[in-house]
Amino acid sequence: MLLTITYTGENTTTGENTTDIGYLLYKNPYRPQMFELNYGRAFVFYPEVSPARTTVALLLDINPIDLARGKKGSQGGGLFDYVNDRPYVASSFISTAISHVFGTAMTGRADKHQLLSDSLLDLTATINMLPCRGEQNMLNRVFEPLGYEVCYETFISDECFPGWGESKYVNLTIKGNVRLRDLLKHIYVLIPVFDRQKHYWVGEDEVEKLLRMGEDWLAEHPERAFITDRYLNRRRLLVNMAFERLAAADVEAGELPQEETPEKPEKKLSLNTQRLGSVVAALKNCGAKSVIDIGCGEGNLLNLLVRERQFSRISGVDVSHVALERANKKLKLENAGDSMKERIKLFQGSLTYRDTRFEGYDAACVIEVIEHLDIPRLAAFKRVLFEYARPRTVVLTTPNRDYNVKYDNIFDGGLRHRDHRFEWTRNEFRGWATEVAEKHGYTVQFSEIGDTDAVLGAPTNMGVFTICE
Ligand code: SAH
Repeated sequence: MLLTITYTGENTTTGENTTDIGYLLYKNPYRPQMFELNYGRAFVFYPEVSPARTTVALLLDINPIDLARGKKGSQGGGLFDYVNDRPYVASSFISTAISHVFGTAMTGRADKHQLLSDSLLDLTATINMLPCRGEQNMLNRVFEPLGYEVCYETFISDECFPGWGESKYVNLTIKGNVRLRDLLKHIYVLIPVFDRQKHYWVGEDEVEKLLRMGEDWLAEHPERAFITDRYLNRRRLLVNMAFERLAAADVEAGELPQEETPEKPEKKLSLNTQRLGSVVAALKNCGAKSVIDIGCGEGNLLNLLVRERQFSRISGVDVSHVALERANKKLKLENAGDSMKERIKLFQGSLTYRDTRFEGYDAACVIEVIEHLDIPRLAAFKRVLFEYARPRTVVLTTPNRDYNVKYDNIFDGGLRHRDHRFEWTRNEFRGWATEVAEKHGYTVQFSEIGDTDAVLGAPTNMGVFTICE
């Protein structure tokens, strides 16, 4: 069984040499190594090493006789027949080997090379002989939302007997701009999801392991139910435990910012109302007919958009299904007629994962959402929206941090909501937005929303991005 990971340097953000992947993996590119595992041996070596392209290989040599008889020295029998496919296919054995051999790399700790470890790298992983049982479409549905290009090679079972049809194994290649630790975690979790035969007993600690490995991505993954169910060998009790924990994380991450605009009661229009009004005006101005509201929350903007005839197709996306349920209620979609249901759709998704469902709209709005993302995830967000979805217009708002000193209940550099990961000053926002626009072929116009202070500006920053034709 062979797994390879290639780091190519066309796009190295840090300007370092691709052989530096050796530092992240704690494996010297010039020294092959062997590791004893319970059921065989793992070898790590580098078939190619050059400044622009370095490949590391993990080769697993499993002893099928040990598997059938049980571990050396153990009393009980093993889980497999004498003739089994385990030595040749990608299975939970490779996941175990990954954590054994690349355990530190999976934590992301890289001492002097922390910047590289935290950077998105151009990585390609090839997983040979992954059991897939005719579920090739699931390969796309599972790996693409994580930002990978997916391709796989299929085989016929036996050339002498074409009637036997296609082999259940594929050689899978995934390619993405990701952190190495995330790639390792994705592979670790997802190989057994496809293989479906764990070589060890699946108990409660597997739930912990899944949540730990999936910490940064599973709760938001559109196929999280499939992944969780399969990873936990369809054991209902464990699957339910995992779902509960994921949902709790989801609510925490997706809680709607109630206190975010500490407005004084005498104000005629709340900041929220002014903001949504400005967004609707920008959308009407750009002539959009179809709009997608990403991070739509409980649907306040959608509720205004449906009243405008100009918008014939409207979608709302949020990572939190609690928010989507509220939006569904607010828009009264349950009892709506067919044409309304056709016109407005809600779905769960994340703006940090490439998603073909975001494509094909004239305009996208991202209103008070980006500040909920961890700064390193902004890079993924930019690509998802401006490189892949590429609507003609993007309307984006985020708090103006300069203004925070005006709020009595925010102290010393505090933020407006406990789930905000950052808030930008006007200059920071403009700098970021200008760079994004230049990089992806858009122009951007800035405005401010809310009561304006001569020095501090207004509470909300808005950028309207227009694609350069
Ligand atoms: N746009 C809405 C809600 C803003 S609150 C409004 O202006 O009223 C922020 C919203 O972003 C929450 O509903 C939260 O669930 C959502 N969110 C946070 N991270 C997200 C992500 N990665 N992808 C999609 N939505 C996300």
